[in-house]
Amino acid sequence: MTDGRSVDLPALRIGQGFDVHPWSDDPARPLVLGGVTVPDHAGLVGHSDADVIAHACTDALLGGVGAGDIGQLFPDTDPANAGADSLALLAHAVSVVADAGWVPINVDCTVVLDRPKIAPIREDMERNLSRVVGAPVTIKGKRTEGMPSLGVGPHCWAVALLTAAPRPATDGAPGSSTSTSAGSEPG
Ligand SMILES: [Zn+2]
Repeated sequence: MTDGRSVDLPALRIGQGFDVHPWSDDPARPLVLGGVTVPDHAGLVGHSDADVIAHACTDALLGGVGAGDIGQLFPDTDPANAGADSLALLAHAVSVVADAGWVPINVDCTVVLDRPKIAPIREDMERNLSRVVGAPVTIKGKRTEGMPSLGVGPHCWAVALLTAAPRPATDGAPGSSTSTSAGSEPG
């Protein structure tokens, strides 16, 4: 619908990321969330360190600039990604965003899990992720409230939303992108 008036909208990109990992039954498997290793709690199953929060943020960054997804950049068939530090994967996504001519404004993430509690590690996670992204990253924890319909009991999942703005013109034109085909995720 138009009323004939033009409106100057700022150039923005929005990126959305989703990730899910099953809980490990190996008590020795470390739990890594937002770059924080959580003591005394079994970890998540995955090819990398299974940092579900960092992965959701990574996919939000890549999706925001049309650069595919984490599984395309870091295939779980590549032995080099085994046990990978997901903050390093996120850092690579940040460079992809910059190369495409965009700069993150903020990333907002929600992680759904019953345990461990997020509050005690929230600041550390946000600090880790914000440092890598170069913009504020906020994390909210949600419990499942015992609802099996969420399908979360044996899983932990996270969603993230990126907002990005064009980099200054001297840094290159925004919006160039690479592949947009689908891919699996490294885990
Ligand atoms: Zn993942």
